[in-house]
Amino acid sequence: MKSSCFSFPGGTHACSSGSPYFRITGGRRPISFSAGASSIFGSGGNSRKEKLLLQDVAELIRTRACQRVVVMVGAGISTPSGVPDFRSPGSGLYSNLQQYDIPYPEAIFELEFFFHNPKPFFALAKELYPGNYRPNVTHYFFRLLHEKGLLLRLYTQNIDGLERASGIPASKLIEAHGSFASATCAVCRTPSPGEDFWADVMVDRIPRCPVCTGIVKPDIVFFGEPLPQRFLLHVIDFPMADLLLILGTSLEVEPFASLSEAVQSSVPRLLINRDLVGPLAWRPRSRDVVQLGDVVHGVEKLVELLGWTEEMQDLIQRETGKLDGQDR
Ligand SMILES: [Zn+2]
Repeated sequence: MKSSCFSFPGGTHACSSGSPYFRITGGRRPISFSAGASSIFGSGGNSRKEKLLLQDVAELIRTRACQRVVVMVGAGISTPSGVPDFRSPGSGLYSNLQQYDIPYPEAIFELEFFFHNPKPFFALAKELYPGNYRPNVTHYFFRLLHEKGLLLRLYTQNIDGLERASGIPASKLIEAHGSFASATCAVCRTPSPGEDFWADVMVDRIPRCPVCTGIVKPDIVFFGEPLPQRFLLHVIDFPMADLLLILGTSLEVEPFASLSEAVQSSVPRLLINRDLVGPLAWRPRSRDVVQLGDVVHGVEKLVELLGWTEEMQDLIQRETGKLDGQDR
């Protein structure tokens, strides 16, 4: 079964699968708190407390009033790890890619251009080689959510693999734009384990299929390609979620924009991002919480409100030690 969603990394999108989950929430509705939330706010009828704040979200997590957390993330959680935006003039990666005469940056993810000239894509792959960049506080916050049994699923638009690198199991991840963990021959479709192509990529050689000599393409979703089958789990995950966290994504690219509206209208949505964007700006809901500014700072604030700061420091220290060991 193929998904009917087409993803265009960084571009426009056409999707025909999410429509049953559109939920337009215009108009004014009385605010109804869930049982968990009303126990926090008490039944004293403090009507001024109707708007949720960051500390209320922390309280919902801390008291486990919410324990089916769905997370959506984009490039904004990777920039603190130093992952360069290949579209940003001035970044080393951008100038590196310019030498290949690409007509425009997004051409890297176009199949036609890839078959004409796969070098820029593999230059990007080389840049994102596992270990080149490391997870940051944001990734480890999701890892903690998982360890506490609170993470239902993490949906990422990123292809840098930092969610995996932070130790979150693949079963909890939806890498919506694919990953470098596996690859497929672009001609005969023979699958290949991810590690096989890295030896070629690292010496700037185009990986070839042992069966037909076609180009082996890492399973990154290109323009016009269907999203990974696992993405279909959104049909189950979003209606089940009792808290939605959205971090470092402008929610401008479908199907992510629509997904943010696929949780039930009573479910709080927390946006931690530079700007107020996407459906949270166009069709805000009464239980939306918006923490604008630096993403890492926003996460650290939430972690502090949760009382997890020390635990987080221990986790990061432990994981950094492991990664240092791997580098040796
Ligand atoms: Zn082949």
